Amino acid sequence: MIVVMKVDATVAQIDHMAQRITALGLTPQVIHGKHQTVIAALGQERAGLTEVLEPGDGVEKVLPIMAPYKRASSELTRERTVVKARGLEVGGARVTVIAGPCSVESEEQIVVLARELKDLGATGLRGGAFKPRTSPYSFQGHKELGLKMLATARGETGLAIVTEVMAPEHVPMVSEYADVLQIGARNMQNFSLLKRAGRARKPVLLKRGMSATLEEFLMAAEYIMSEGNYDVILCERGVRTFADHTRNTLDLSVVPAVQRLSHLPIIVDPSHGTGKRNKVTPLSRAAVAVGADGLIVEVHPDPDRALSDGQQSLFPEQFEALMAEVREIAKVLKRTIADPVADPEARRPIPVPEGAGSVTAR
Ligand code: PEP
Ligand code: MN
Repeated sequence: MIVVMKVDATVAQIDHMAQRITALGLTPQVIHGKHQTVIAALGQERAGLTEVLEPGDGVEKVLPIMAPYKRASSELTRERTVVKARGLEVGGARVTVIAGPCSVESEEQIVVLARELKDLGATGLRGGAFKPRTSPYSFQGHKELGLKMLATARGETGLAIVTEVMAPEHVPMVSEYADVLQIGARNMQNFSLLKRAGRARKPVLLKRGMSATLEEFLMAAEYIMSEGNYDVILCERGVRTFADHTRNTLDLSVVPAVQRLSHLPIIVDPSHGTGKRNKVTPLSRAAVAVGADGLIVEVHPDPDRALSDGQQSLFPEQFEALMAEVREIAKVLKRTIADPVADPEARRPIPVPEGAGSVTAR
């Protein structure tokens, strides 16, 4: 339910309506727009609420939120969300590139690589300390030691750290070191993890499950947001299909689909999305062209010796070439690639694409 306040509604009227919404057992979220204030009344909707809320002082009208994901829906706000973590900004006018190895392997590896990636234009450093591996015998990550190595790399470069958290009980520990908590594809519907991350004070990078529909993906984001954390970055990382020329099929069409239905930023992972080094750069170009807010790319100084995902990791010089190409592609869309140094321009919100809010036309 969205309570649209009149243009000249007073602060007292807005506060009063927020209190009435609370008294009805719903959670009010006041959104101050450029011209008008709206109050989202979130929670279990029931018949008769419109009739109760509409006569309130200062109320212009009451509208239902049609989508099942209320907080993630573009019906909630027409402004696109920009998620910020240190110099990393996702969802603004600039396209953000997060890069790094699949796993954090040693302090030297991550520090030397982080410096290089920053010089090449990455604004975020990725690297797994907790690794979700298909085999229990494969390298599982250096865990807290790996988090400390990431923190050292951040200390050296200032790059924001993006790293995975696999278990609800690890959220406090990973939050101590990370700037962005990654929830992996295999955990997209781990509801206890989503809820715990929703209570963390760090932005969440939510990867799409390998068989998740768009609605399931947005409902997973809703779980995080329903606990109060609105800083959610969506990430398309490929879904499982019959295709066997790639590890996954990168569903780039989900980018404009998300942008119609949600105000949340969406980035693309062409590394897991293809699983093949030679396809990472072409799909990165395509992701920027389709309008993604950013990329998350695996880069390794010596991919053949990587402890995980070497076959899809770029050599640093390939990453350099990728950056040069996506810079050119971004220009066509009147966007630029974010600079490692935070830029006020990056905070400029970009408008919701036409037709946003339509829950039928995907
Ligand atoms: C990763 O980012 O290394 C990873 C395991 O990703 P995903 O959850 O998308 O497979
Ligand atoms: Mn990986």
